Formats: sequence, structure tokens, C-alpha cells
Amino acid sequence: MAQRTVEAQRGGPRDLQARVLETGLCTACGACLGHCPYLKTLGERVAFIHPCPLPEGRCFEVCPRAALDPDRLDAQLAGAGPADPLLGPHLALHFARALDPEVKRRGQYGGVTTALTLFALGAGAAEAALLTGGSPTAAPHPVVARDRATALAAAGTKYSACATLAPLAPLLREGSAPLAVVGRPCQVAALRKLEARGEGGHRLALVIGVFCFWALTPPFYRFLASRADLAPATKMDIPKEGGVVFSVNGGAVRIPLDQVRPFIRPACQSCFDPTAEWADLAVGSTEYDPDWNTLVVRTARGQALVDGAVAAGALEVTPYPAERIPILRAAVRGKKIRVLAALEAGRAEAAYLEISPERRAALQPEAEGGA
Ligand SMILES: Cc1cc2nc3c(=O)[nH]c(=O)nc-3n(C[C@H](O)[C@H](O)[C@H](O)COP(=O)(O)OP(=O)(O)OC[C@H]3O[C@@H](n4cnc5c(N)ncnc54)[C@H](O)[C@@H]3O)c2cc1C
Ligand code: SF4
Ligand code: SF4
Repeated sequence: MAQRTVEAQRGGPRDLQARVLETGLCTACGACLGHCPYLKTLGERVAFIHPCPLPEGRCFEVCPRAALDPDRLDAQLAGAGPADPLLGPHLALHFARALDPEVKRRGQYGGVTTALTLFALGAGAAEAALLTGGSPTAAPHPVVARDRATALAAAGTKYSACATLAPLAPLLREGSAPLAVVGRPCQVAALRKLEARGEGGHRLALVIGVFCFWALTPPFYRFLASRADLAPATKMDIPKEGGVVFSVNGGAVRIPLDQVRPFIRPACQSCFDPTAEWADLAVGSTEYDPDWNTLVVRTARGQALVDGAVAAGALEVTPYPAERIPILRAAVRGKKIRVLAALEAGRAEAAYLEISPERRAALQPEAEGGA
């Protein structure tokens, strides 16, 4: 198994083309872009614009869909809490919310991600933050924020697969100051693979992951463009009550989830990590109270930032309600078990995963009394 893992992690542009781009497995994380002048995006589609003859390459080695070994990433995460096959390594689990009224107003839920980003920038923990900007109804774009206004403008969830990491390689080449990155779980995995290659390790001062169970493809925005009533929307949400809700002129426009499902990115169906297991901090909804976030503290570095933000009055944290932990664990298990079934059936879309027998066993419901 160990030998297979090492081999699976090595390859080049032809392997990336054959195993990831042609198979629809690309998550548009953006990590390979910036490593190679021949890789570009068209919308959220990543493609080679010219063939590259190299037998091996960084494009393949950083790609989270070329190969992914959760045990290896668990072991790599410096300062991490105990590994947990469902929720990933973590030191603490909280409900949390921003205390700055403007952050609360502009944040998707409790604004914790933006509050932590602003605190990291203000406290000098990061000189710049790589974020995802844009409106909820048009394709988003990467943003490099160095000030409060730019970071605030990037608040809010854009439900598609922006190639946020595209500017990362040039940023790492150009400077020496610490960087923060906010990304989806697939992007967090790419960042850790990049770190494992010795790239930018000392510069990646903070990695915040947002939970993500699926993202949508660009045709979703064409669908939205056909709905004139949604043009002024300032926010999109997928609330626990069901449907997809847009905030429009102080009111809400709801569309059935079934109209949105056809736009789910195929690569997301084989995604094994909905909670950004290898981030320093992971932030999700609570599926309970939209004014709060779930906050998973995974590393000592993440813990130090949260402690600082709380002490500075930027963030409020409260213990995660014990009765809700099984609900979160069951949602994550459901996603993982579906992908594991695809892997066990030998389906190509899950072949990028290296899952140890111990991890497989630990993911079965009976490993946790059926929860
Ligand atoms: C595609 C997608 C699907 C998601 N699905 C779920 C889910 O099923 N369950 C759940 O609990 N949470 C999900 N989330 C996370 C959730 O929507 C919030 O982003 C998270 O709870 C943080 O909330 P907040 O109030 O702290 O956000 P904010 O303070 O508003 O900060 C949001 C941050 O997310 C970044 N961001 C926005 N869009 C993207 C994007 N497309 N790619 C990368 N980064 C982005 C912004 O740069 C900003 O830093 C999803 C997020 C995304 C991007
Ligand atoms: S590194 Fe990211 S953007 Fe590039 S091919 Fe892999 S998944 Fe797609
Ligand atoms: S579901 Fe997984 S693969 Fe798809 S965007 Fe989210 S983290 Fe990336």
C-alpha cells in the first residue's frame, strides 16, 4: 500500500490530462495554474492550451484529484489535534460568530471566516489573504486582500468552483511575507500537497477551510441570468428549511433545490472531504442558527488565532452543542460512505483516493454505534 501511494502521487502533465481533466474530476481548485504557462481557465474549466512534454510536473503533484491519501495528510499537519476519520484532526469544536456588526451583516452566516481573516491581517499574522470575490449570481474570481475593505467585499458564499488558488504560485514566488488562504476543502488539500513539496511552507501562515458538500458549474449562472427577478440578489443560501434562497431588495426569492441539482459539479460527487480536514481552522454553517457558524479548530496555529480574535473582541465562541455532534458526524459519514462505495466498486471517479483498511473500518456506522 505504501509503495502504491508513493507512485500514485507522481506524474506529469499527460497524467493530469488523462486522469483529471479529461475525466471531469477537476475541482477547479486552481492549484496547478500558475505552476505552468500552458494551463489556463475558461470559465471554471481548467485546460492545457498547449501540450507539455515533461514526464513529471508540479501541476500533477499538487493536484488533489491526481492522488489523495488522508493518512499522509493527517500525519503532515503540523500542530494538529487527534485524527478523527470523520471530522479530521481537531483540537476543539465550537459554535462561533463575529462581533463586528459590519462583518456580521456581510458574512454568509456568523461571519467567522471574515472576522478571522481580518484579525489575521490586522494582527500581522498575514500580510495578504487569498479569497474568493464576486456577486452570488455571477462567476466568482480570486481576490488578494491586503486591507479591510477588500476582505469585507469578499465575504459571502459563492456556490461555484472558483479557481481561487490560481494567483498562489506567483504570490509565493514574488514575496516573503506570510499569507492566509481561505478555500474549499479540495483547495485546502491542494495547499497541503504544495507544502509537502516544500513550496511556500513558511509563507502559508494560515489556512482556513470552508465546509463544502458540493459546488455548482458555470451554466448555473446562465440559469440565474434567465431570471430577471434575481438580478439584484445580494446573497444566496441553501437553508436547512430547504430550497435555494436569494436575498433580493430586503426580501427573499426561493427556488426549489431540484432546479439547482442538475448544475452540481460532477467532481463533487466523488469528494471525500466536506469539512476541510487539513485546514488550520474549518468553518461551516450550524444547520441550526444562521447567525452562528460551526468552527473546527484543527491546529495549534489555528487555536492561537482564535484565542487572539476572542481576546480582541472580534469573535465569540461557545461550546458545540453535544446533541448536535452526531448530526454533523452523520452528514459527513453519509458523504464519505457514498464515495467509499464508488471506490470499492472500482469506479474511476474514486480511484484517486488511497484509503487504508483501518480508515475504511472506522468510517462504518457500527464503528460509532450506528451514529
Ligand atoms: C461551494 C460552497 C459550498 C458550501 N456548502 C456548504 C455546506 O453544504 N454546508 C456547510 O455547512 N457549509 C457550506 N459552505 C460554507 C458556508 O457557505 C460558509 O462559507 C461558511 O460557513 C463560512 O461562513 P461565514 O459566515 O464565516 O462566511 P464569510 O465570513 O462570509 O466568509 C466566506 C468566505 O468564503 C470564501 N468563499 C466564498 N465563496 C467561495 C468559493 N466558491 N470557493 C472558495 N472560497 C469561497 C470567501 O472568500 C470568504 O473568505 C459552502 C461553501 C462553498 C464555497
Ligand atoms: S490542481 Fe486543481 S485545478 Fe488543477 S487539475 Fe487538479 S483539481 Fe483541477
Ligand atoms: S464538494 Fe469537494 S470537490 Fe467539490 S468544490 Fe467542494 S470541496 Fe471541492
